[in-house]
Amino acid sequence: MNAPNKSGWKPEMTAADDGMHSGPQTVTGNRALMLEEPLIFELAGTDTTGVDLPEIENGANRLGGMERTAPVGLPGLSEPETVRHYTRLSRQNYAIDLGLFPLGSCTMKHNPRLNEKVARMPGFADVHPLQPVSTVRGALEVINELAFWLIDLTGMHGVAMSPKAGAHGELCGILCIRAALEARGDPREVILVPESAHGTNPATAAFAGYRVENIPANADGRVDLEALKARLGPDVAAVMITNPNTCGLFERDMKAISDAVHAAGGFVYCDGANFNAIVGKVRPGDLGVDAMHINLHKTFSTPHGGGGPGSGPVVLSEALSPYGPLPFTARTADGVVHLVEEENAAEFDHTRAFGRMTAFHGQMGMFTRALAYILSHGADGLRQVAEDAVLNANYILRSLDDLLEAPFGESGPCMHEALFGDRGFGEGLSTLDLAKSLIDEGYHPMTMYFPLVVHGAMLIEPTETESKAGLDQFIAALRNVAERARASDASMKQAPYYAPRRRLDETLAARKPVLAWSDPNSA
Ligand SMILES: *Cc1c(COP(=O)(O)O)cnc(C)c1O
Repeated sequence: MNAPNKSGWKPEMTAADDGMHSGPQTVTGNRALMLEEPLIFELAGTDTTGVDLPEIENGANRLGGMERTAPVGLPGLSEPETVRHYTRLSRQNYAIDLGLFPLGSCTMKHNPRLNEKVARMPGFADVHPLQPVSTVRGALEVINELAFWLIDLTGMHGVAMSPKAGAHGELCGILCIRAALEARGDPREVILVPESAHGTNPATAAFAGYRVENIPANADGRVDLEALKARLGPDVAAVMITNPNTCGLFERDMKAISDAVHAAGGFVYCDGANFNAIVGKVRPGDLGVDAMHINLHKTFSTPHGGGGPGSGPVVLSEALSPYGPLPFTARTADGVVHLVEEENAAEFDHTRAFGRMTAFHGQMGMFTRALAYILSHGADGLRQVAEDAVLNANYILRSLDDLLEAPFGESGPCMHEALFGDRGFGEGLSTLDLAKSLIDEGYHPMTMYFPLVVHGAMLIEPTETESKAGLDQFIAALRNVAERARASDASMKQAPYYAPRRRLDETLAARKPVLAWSDPNSA
């Protein structure tokens, strides 16, 4: 049971209080073995301590006047109290290990335990980036082997392993493009981005100093090739295209797009966040792509979301590889894998690097996990990943398109994700209300209001890790909330009813975050 606390904290109203759900009130606010939990500052006083340290005797003060003048003001809990606090909070969370995570564009898939076992091997887990190279040959071998697979799977020429997320990889790729253009004395100002692009694409282009212009889409949800061709010219540095795109569709004209961009002197950046749908099936290098980031935390199953960190290696074409950042690994004829840095870049014929993306080599813990995933699947297994991911997404699309608007349902099968809109919902009900109702059914909501090109968008990516039985259960839940939305069920406006917290003002929380605790009783 939770201790009563100083601030007079009270559990929030839940469904039982609304008369929605029969059952007695509990004095604790707990519901069966789901425990309510106050903030840690409300649980513990700042005048208690969880540790027992001896008084310092005759210790010379070496703080030189920097000593603290007031108490540190942190709550003091014992170890078991602390463990329980965080474990209780973790039970209010949702995770890929608990159930389906339908977030479109995010590729939330199972993280195989084998990856975790490999990543914990001391030779990988305990290395330090400043260790002498001679003591970390095995770790460098892993980075190099993963690099080989990424190059091979994409049909590209080189890879920068160090970027630490997809967005970071985008920046790396665009900086390579800028370096290549500057090297030929041809600074260009504009990067073209489709309207359906992930927000990181225009943000990256702007951050790298480019002006962003939108590329229009066809009625079928793909890039309008003729409109793109008409806009190309000597001021266009690059296009950034997501393939499969964020409407869940394969850009069939990709090769023609690349050819047109190259003919106009520009480069092709491909956002590879959706690579899961085509891994082992299509090599972006064959489509004329010059740079593409790969989110290891999406396609290659390394932990994602709250469990990060991410990792976003960027594969590069022959034209861009000379500008890739340091450091990187390279194998010499004697079979030894070396680390190429500023000191030895000339030896490896890599003197035009644009610089560094990170201090060190990249996310070692993600490299080991991704390589374990790749090797345990093999080339044929990876192809099956893509096929099953696409099959699962189409199963969802076709199991719901009689109840939910499928704006590109006529554009052929979808790839890794199914896209729906809110047309047909009853008066006053929105995508948000449907998503909140889905929480009551035990599912994390799908991606909402993205891509921006579809009104009230709902983007669902089941990934290949869901079984048919799991998908059927999810579809049944979604059909139920969709039917309620069409029937104008006003109770959806109050959902979620059964979550530890009811509907929050997310806009206010984002715009005016309260980041420090203040004692409500002292106000
Ligand atoms: C996830 C995603 C990104 C950004 O990747 P991060 O690893 O989150 O930085 C970019 N584009 C698309 C389409 C994505 O889905």
